[in-house]
Amino acid sequence: MIPAAFEYIRAGSADDAFAQLQRLGADARVLAGGQSLIPAMRFRLARPAVLIDINAIKELSNIGIDNGRLTLGAVARDCAIERAPWIGERRWSLLHDASRVVADPVVRQMGTIVGSLCHNDPAGDWTTVALATRAEVVVRGKAGSRTVPIDEFLVDSFTTAVAEGEMATAVRFPVPGDRTAGSYQKVERKVGDFATAAAAVQVTLAEDGTIRDAGIALSAAGPCAVRVSEAEALLKGQKPTAEVIRGAAAAASKKSAPQADLRGSVAYKKNLAGVLVSRGLRQALARLGVQS
Ligand SMILES: Cc1cc2nc3c(=O)[nH]c(=O)nc-3n(C[C@H](O)[C@H](O)[C@H](O)COP(=O)(O)OP(=O)(O)OC[C@H]3O[C@@H](n4cnc5c(N)ncnc54)[C@H](O)[C@@H]3O)c2cc1C
Repeated sequence: MIPAAFEYIRAGSADDAFAQLQRLGADARVLAGGQSLIPAMRFRLARPAVLIDINAIKELSNIGIDNGRLTLGAVARDCAIERAPWIGERRWSLLHDASRVVADPVVRQMGTIVGSLCHNDPAGDWTTVALATRAEVVVRGKAGSRTVPIDEFLVDSFTTAVAEGEMATAVRFPVPGDRTAGSYQKVERKVGDFATAAAAVQVTLAEDGTIRDAGIALSAAGPCAVRVSEAEALLKGQKPTAEVIRGAAAAASKKSAPQADLRGSVAYKKNLAGVLVSRGLRQALARLGVQS
């Protein structure tokens, strides 16, 4: 199908895009990489009257590490993460893993992380990574810019804290310490498919080898990405033994609330969530030189 008729505006700056959004309100939608919005328009699931294209705004394509934060602007592409010079560092292993399995290489050429967070698909990959890493999203609204922790940003399926007339300008990830590693585990039917189930895991070890901090989140396990705070609490302060990992995996299985579909039954997906958390923890720990 072809989309319903719409007006197209190419914004020249972030100020311009924001002014247009304020002027047009509910009639307008931001167009970032278009990898979710355009298919939705073609299926007539979305019928915006006006698209505000932000792709030409240079100031929104920034990727930089500053003041303990990695900042990715609203049009920083998935492929830019995959190729970033620092992405091979152990501390960024969760982002690195995920950047190679989101959709397929063609989609990653245009798709943006911020667009993916704003889309908030229940089976999305970046929302899950953002939860495990405790990211924040910068949202520009009438009263200025505000920083929204990811747990508050993801409201419900396809719904976020970005209100009518607002736009997200960046996502920020805390720069992990030296003794941090992560892992992204995704089971998909074929390359380019959304997750049947996926787990994002990040672990920081203390000097004595105990787990100082852990971030655990699941994709395709509820209305939107799910933080498994029960598993995070079980891990904190513990030696990373097989028993502790089993406990965290069981907590993930229990928390997972997937829907049955062509990719699998509820029982299969719940079990898979636990298996993927266990694999993710073992891989993250192995990256830190710990066999578990
Ligand atoms: C074949 C295919 C396979 C895919 N597989 C996967 C997959 O396996 N995993 C996965 O996670 N995703 C997958 N996707 C989705 C893809 O990753 C999209 O790129 C992503 O979901 C949206 O990013 P975008 O930049 O293209 O956003 P767009 O499509 O441009 O926008 C998506 C939504 O977010 C809004 N939006 C975008 N940017 C902003 C902003 N700055 N401020 C406010 N609102 C904004 C738009 O108005 C729209 O409602 C797939 C897509 C395709 C076409």
